[in-house]
Amino acid sequence: MRSARVHVHGTSLPVLPLERRYRYVGPAELREQVRPDGLGRPISSRDDLATWLAEQDEPEREEPFTFVVDTTATLRLAPRRSEHIACAGGDPVLGAGEITFARSHDGWRVSEISNQSTGYCPDVTSWTAVQAALDNAGLDHPGSFTRPIVFRRCLHCRQLNIVKDDHFVCAMCEEPLPAVWNADPPDEPEH
Ligand SMILES: [Zn+2]
Repeated sequence: MRSARVHVHGTSLPVLPLERRYRYVGPAELREQVRPDGLGRPISSRDDLATWLAEQDEPEREEPFTFVVDTTATLRLAPRRSEHIACAGGDPVLGAGEITFARSHDGWRVSEISNQSTGYCPDVTSWTAVQAALDNAGLDHPGSFTRPIVFRRCLHCRQLNIVKDDHFVCAMCEEPLPAVWNADPPDEPEH
């Protein structure tokens, strides 16, 4: 994919996409799980990842972990089944989901990755931010979400839906669901 460029005083500069920040939209009681020691480990290099994986129990290493991309565009990892809001320290994120690693000839690579986070419900377009965080850490990855999740909120009954097989219909009230991502409640200001 070629990135767009802008010319400033004769210099060609890449246009960085404006990353969407996702606010927590999950159950309020899970906010109580936010603790300083629950914050996900920042992963900025292959060595960071190897160190973190070495600290995990052997059977867990090739199971999915919880991840977020924080607002500094850094990948953060937390043990399996951790809540994304705890991994992010309660802050907004640029991306969130589950990530699985597999051994490669010279370390670890990302084998599976999704945007599955019912706490943040990020759009599939959050891949841009996720990919940037993985690339910055030097991690090999599949090039897209291996299991993309399409989140939509019903405008009629407010139910949050996961759209399957392009069937954009609310599971609760059977009203049509919007074509564009809208899991963020529009009546609350972004912060
Ligand atoms: Zn509905």
